Amino acid sequence: MRVLDTDVAIVGAGLAGLTTALDLQAAGRRVTVLEARDRVGGRTLNADIGDGEVVEMGGEWVGPTQDAIAALADDLGVDTFPTYYEGEHLAKLGGDVVRHADPFPETTPEVAAELEVALRALHEQAATVPVDAPWDAPGATALDTTTFEAWIVANVGHPDVRDLVRIVAEVQATPAAELSLLWALYALACSNGFDVMTGVRGGAQQDRFVGGSQAVSIAAAGRLGDAVELRAPVRTVEHRADRVLVRTDRVDVAARRAVIAVPPVLASRIAFDPALPPDKDAILSRTHPGSVIKVNVVYHEPFWRRDGLSGQWTAPGLPLSFGLDNSPPGGSPGVLVGLFEAGAARRFSAASAQERRDAALGSLVTIFGRRAAEPRDYLELDWSAEPWTRGCYAGKPAVGAAVAFGRALRRPDGPIHWAGSETATMWHGYFDGAVSSGHRAASEVLEALG
Ligand code: FAD
Repeated sequence: MRVLDTDVAIVGAGLAGLTTALDLQAAGRRVTVLEARDRVGGRTLNADIGDGEVVEMGGEWVGPTQDAIAALADDLGVDTFPTYYEGEHLAKLGGDVVRHADPFPETTPEVAAELEVALRALHEQAATVPVDAPWDAPGATALDTTTFEAWIVANVGHPDVRDLVRIVAEVQATPAAELSLLWALYALACSNGFDVMTGVRGGAQQDRFVGGSQAVSIAAAGRLGDAVELRAPVRTVEHRADRVLVRTDRVDVAARRAVIAVPPVLASRIAFDPALPPDKDAILSRTHPGSVIKVNVVYHEPFWRRDGLSGQWTAPGLPLSFGLDNSPPGGSPGVLVGLFEAGAARRFSAASAQERRDAALGSLVTIFGRRAAEPRDYLELDWSAEPWTRGCYAGKPAVGAAVAFGRALRRPDGPIHWAGSETATMWHGYFDGAVSSGHRAASEVLEALG
């Protein structure tokens, strides 16, 4: 087995691991990034749709206040462009498909009033949750042992309002019954509230990267050069006070420090010798990702634009419950991106590829009419089936686990440091959180190395 000697071994070439490596390399340290896949980018992945155009099969959108990812992309020369959002949107809340101009579908005054009351109550409580330590929020134990669904059922009467409030959980790709109230409040706090979290203009879905979101990681890896080892799944991390030996299937790396920048569900499958402290093991094994199958449907042209439609739809009852126009910057070909989320993703994960495609196109026909039935191309990716991701958008602690074990999440364990979107404070689960976690881990390592 080849043994490399370096200062810092970094596990995972997603945005978090690559950011850590760039910072350390810029500070004059030797790094080796060990990546299980044969590509960089982790939960970002471009798919070729011909004529030099790509669509994003993983994460894609960025928005205001996501300054860490914006600065990284800028430094690496990757530009953004606005998500197409001209015209009216479509919604199906139980009854017929309706057009609406505001980001949210028009509802009855009764629904609007109840939604406002529910969101105000959630935002007031979210303001009491510290983003760097949600487990220290007032009443944290009670909040963390109550499910978000229980809160919805106890506090919201109208079924349409319940569905709209459940969007806070759906944005986590998790059924509200599996999300603690504390984590729902934290999710609102760390992404600047419901409107920013769910919005396009002024919100987290405002912009996309020219050349696809994976372009950021590809550019980062280009700068790191030989420091990135692909096809190197890390199986074991042996550690002593000031040395680590990181073992993969085809190369071992001896270093002074290790940074683990992989999703918690996968970190908990690495063998540590000696074993990790019980609280760290507990938070890693109890931080579960949600379920998403992402679909991009390619048409010869974006036919909805000619009808004055933006391409956005909201339809909580359909298999593809939400989506947007995902055409390349020049508007050709036309692409609609849709998401099987949470329960729908689980149901359709077990279905055949044909059943999934039928359900996806059936949703689009319900929303956009017959022209949606005959795409030029259909692309899908079930992120729960990806062995080196096992779900998305990001891991969240199981009900009760944040208060019980959350304090261990970011804590270094001897020479082992922790990065990744799930260790972020702001924009947990987003690109921005992944990048800021990489900066934090790199600072910790530099301080430790002296
Ligand atoms: P990852 O990207 O998961 O990187 C971890 C890396 O570690 C991977 O490359 C993996 O292969 C590797 N790895 C795992 N185990 C091992 C091992 N044992 N040894 C070696 N390597 C290993 N965020 C947004 O900001 N905007 C969005 O629009 C958005 N939408 C999303 C849509 C989807 C479908 C998905 C999947 C995610 C989305 N996200 C979005 C979330 C965002 O993509 C992630 O939060 C972010 O990319 C995570 O980066 P990371 O570096 O923490 O982890």
